[in-house]
This record gives sequence, C-alpha cells and structure tokens, in this order.
Amino acid sequence: MKTRRRPYAEQRPQDVGGGVWSVPVPIPGNPLGYTLVYAVESPKGPVLIDAGWNHPDAWEALSGGLGALGLDVSAVRGVVVTHFHPDHAGLAGQVREVSGAWIAMHEADAALVRMINEYEADAQADMQADMLRRAGADPAEAAQAVGERPVPPAQPDRVLRDGDLVDLPGRKLRALHTPGHTPGHICLHLEDADRLFTGDHVLPDITPHVGIYPYDRDDIDPLGDFLDSLDRVGDLGPLDALPAHEWIFPDVAARAVQIRHHHEEKLERLRALLAQRPQPLTIWEVASMMTWNRPWEDLAPVLKGMAAGEAAAHLRTLEARGLISRVTGVEPVRFHALDS
Ligand SMILES: [Zn+2]
Repeated sequence: MKTRRRPYAEQRPQDVGGGVWSVPVPIPGNPLGYTLVYAVESPKGPVLIDAGWNHPDAWEALSGGLGALGLDVSAVRGVVVTHFHPDHAGLAGQVREVSGAWIAMHEADAALVRMINEYEADAQADMQADMLRRAGADPAEAAQAVGERPVPPAQPDRVLRDGDLVDLPGRKLRALHTPGHTPGHICLHLEDADRLFTGDHVLPDITPHVGIYPYDRDDIDPLGDFLDSLDRVGDLGPLDALPAHEWIFPDVAARAVQIRHHHEEKLERLRALLAQRPQPLTIWEVASMMTWNRPWEDLAPVLKGMAAGEAAAHLRTLEARGLISRVTGVEPVRFHALDS
C-alpha cells in the first residue's frame, strides 16, 4: 500500500492488513503533520506502537480513530514506544491511565526519560545555552536558540533490549535496537506478518534528525550508530515498512541503502570543506556553511540549534574515522581536516 503524504485532514484510520491498523494522530503546529500510531491485534487486546503527541486534539484522534476501527482505547494491552520523542511517547501516559496498559521502551531511552523528568526546566535551559556557547554561536543567537520544553514523557513500566519479544500473546513482535535518531530507538519486527515498524529510523521520503548533544561530546558517535543501524535494517531484506510518519512503503532495505548514501555524501562534502580551509572551524561556522532546506540566515534560531547538532554529529563521525581532528584546549571547540 502506498499513500503519499497528504495533510492530516485527508488521513483516515485504516486496516493495513496482517492484523494491524493505523491511526493518524495530528501533531499540532508541526510541518510533519501527524504520527502514524499502529495497533497490533492480539487475543488479549491490541498493543500500540507509539501513541502520538500529548494534546487534546491528538487524544481525540487516537481514541476516536481506534473506536472507528472497532477497537476500544480502554482495552489496549500495552504501548511500545519506538523512541522517547514527544510525537511518539506523548500520549502513552494517558493511554495507560484509561486502560491500565504497560508502557515499554528501550532501556537507553528509558534512562533519558528518567533524566528529563528529574531536570528542572531552568537547569535544562542553562545547559543548552552553555552548549551553544561552546559551539561558537554568538550570544544573541544562542539566547534565541534555546527551545521550549515539551511535557516530559511518562516513565515506562518495562524496558526492552535488542532481540526481546514484546508481550503480545499469540504473535511475534521483536525489538531491534536501531540507535542514532535517539540512543534507544527501536524498530519492531512483526515476524508473523513479515513487516517492520520503523518509527523514525527509516522514513520513505525524509530522513530523521541525527544530532549529538552536547555538540562537543567526543565519547559517542550517534551518526556512526545510525549508519550501523541502517545496515541492521538492511540485513532484514525487502520487508514492508510501517513508519511513524509519511506513509507505508515497500522494501525497507532499499530505502536504508539510500539514506546511508545520503549521509556518506554529506560526510564527504564536509571533509572536503574542512580540507579547503587553512583555519580550523567551529561547529557553528561549519553548520552555517552546510546545505539545509533553506538558507542559513533564514533558519529560525531553534532550527539553527538543530542544524548545529546535525553538523556536530557529522564532524564527530569524520573524527571517529580518523579523517578530521579537533583542536584541544580551546573554546569554542574547532575542527580541521587531517592529511590523507
Ligand atoms: Zn523522533
């Protein structure tokens, strides 16, 4: 089944076969439009994959959409969250309240949810401002780039690890750890119906945000992880993909190869850019020279902050591959190409 992305208003809850339904849940004020929440049938009540943004309209769409398909939100057995982002985990808590469902997510994202719930909003804003300064953002831009904090997601009742089967009686739904977009992102392989719920990891037309936070960390490599995770998905073969945004599409392996290629090209352009510069560059300078979906000057401050996260992730991968290096002992941190 192929449905191009259309506005939320044109989306409908539907039976997508194999004992799976999809319910589009709006993300108010976001150009992505909607999250596709999936319900997987079982004799003990449906299990949801993701839950949608925490907003009354979204709740209306989720509970009403399930109702239109003959499913009752109060009968939901569990919610598996592909990753902790608010357009996926947002309503999981409310589903649990009305149904007594469990909430499950990968242990790495569960740890982040715990951290987010513990941090005061002020402390989080200070940390963000500090990170922007260390990346070389000018102070006025940095002040505007500090984002608003969404309602923290509900704490999960269960954690999943790579290879775990989800508690879904009579069916086989297996977690595949695909870090990159978040450290605990999972795809879910419905082995009895040969399809893969891809969350945000593999989308048919767009690619997910992969950033590193704080920007100047050198102990992790999220983009390297993401590329490895694309290979993992590719190894499953040409399964039908059920993503959390846009539309259902065939041959997840082919799309994974495309996305990998996209990032490899971006990495090579970035390496060449550094190689042409006599002076090391800050993360902010690098971000301002890369190609985004609109000119750098026109990006809203919060989007500049995300672009810098993405630039930093690409720099970190090049560094991990031994192609570039950071200048130590200076602030803001700067990167330069190594002779190859
Ligand atoms: Zn996401």
